[in-house]
Amino acid sequence: MPDSVPDAVLSAVPDAVLDTVAVTGTALLSVDDHAATVAGLLAPTPVERRPLGECLGLALAADLSSAVALPPFDNSAMDGYAVRAADVASASASAPVELPVVEDIPAGRGDAPPLVPGTAHRIMTGAPMPDGADAVVQVELTDGGTSAVRVFAGASPGRNVRYAGEDVAVGSVVLGEGTTLHAAQLGLAAAIGQADLPVHRPPRVLVLSTGSELVAAGSALGPGQIYESNGAMLAAAVREAGCAASIAHFVADDVDAFHAALAPHLDGADLVLTSGGVSAGAYEVVKDALRSHGVRFVKVAMNPGMPQGAGQYAATPVVTLPGNPVSALVSFEVFVRPALLAAAGHAAVHRPRVLARLADGARSPSGKRQFRRGRLHDDGTVTLVGGPGSHLLASLAAANCLVEVPEEVTDVEPGAQVTVYVLTW
Ligand code: AMP
Ligand code: MG
Repeated sequence: MPDSVPDAVLSAVPDAVLDTVAVTGTALLSVDDHAATVAGLLAPTPVERRPLGECLGLALAADLSSAVALPPFDNSAMDGYAVRAADVASASASAPVELPVVEDIPAGRGDAPPLVPGTAHRIMTGAPMPDGADAVVQVELTDGGTSAVRVFAGASPGRNVRYAGEDVAVGSVVLGEGTTLHAAQLGLAAAIGQADLPVHRPPRVLVLSTGSELVAAGSALGPGQIYESNGAMLAAAVREAGCAASIAHFVADDVDAFHAALAPHLDGADLVLTSGGVSAGAYEVVKDALRSHGVRFVKVAMNPGMPQGAGQYAATPVVTLPGNPVSALVSFEVFVRPALLAAAGHAAVHRPRVLARLADGARSPSGKRQFRRGRLHDDGTVTLVGGPGSHLLASLAAANCLVEVPEEVTDVEPGAQVTVYVLTW
């Protein structure tokens, strides 16, 4: 079944015929089997220490435990007055309690004297609680006095006090190995005094597009030519996964040109990602160039993205994606992104998956896992964007999710529940 059959045409084809077409010829490899093959190609990248500022999006390579408590000391959660709760127990708006103010304790003052019963210390948020005080009355519940303060409300012991270690205990593991380092995780690492962290080096990916019809942006299109787009798209997808991408100049459908383009880059790459030249046509350059070099070409029970290849070329892992832009990016999402994230040490390698009601129905070829482009809405429903055609790049660009239709499902009724892969673009 070609990738680009529109729903309208699919609907007109009897199921029996669809089924036959889908499995014609070679038996199809399951999506999960090919995903396992691709994941198995990539070894974890080496671990190195990096300053926090260079860790965003990378995976922590070892459990991180804290040498300090958070908070490190008992401190005030409010601007107000440190008191003994017992001294203000009877305070109310109509019968305020007046206490002499003995000290000012701004944040950062570490030498405040203990509180004498029957007095108050003015205290700011984050300042250490003085010995002898067990509560803070917030300034809004007082007259704000500086030499004496009138307190208009009582406070129970512990009120507005943040206790040492209530967030993080000394010696506890605060971030597990494999955690992806986003803003909150880097903030926590900084808060426990880490200047750098052990992370996996981001995998380096070389992207190479193939096709004699391809032209670079900036040149005029001749007859039969199109602008090359997979290189920019796949390199961006690699970078969005937190990996390093470089783009080799695309090559025509010529085996010698393909080898020549690849050779200078093989050494530094953890993965070579090609697009195009792997299906059943006559000028399948990637297949022709790599077939006898340890790369296995298969048909996967997937739509779009049936023709795939994976293996090692000169000891460098290679994944060969189909050329249709939607097939290429969906294949990247399904096979390559999880494998790259695993190699980069991330514990979570999959896109968030949610269940949503598909507002419009869908038809899907029997025996193939279909990934349709969709838009997930705030009300929890999802609508399809464009048809199933694997050339529909504008629909892909308008989508914010992939809608999965399982292998055994050929008809999705409007309103039926589907699994949606949430994309973050
Ligand atoms: P192929 O997999 O080489 O048979 O290509 C399938 C379709 O994708 C053809 O219509 C190609 O023109 C198109 N295609 C292949 N590679 C690219 C590319 N790098 N940029 C844009 N379109 C491409
Ligand atoms: Mg081609």
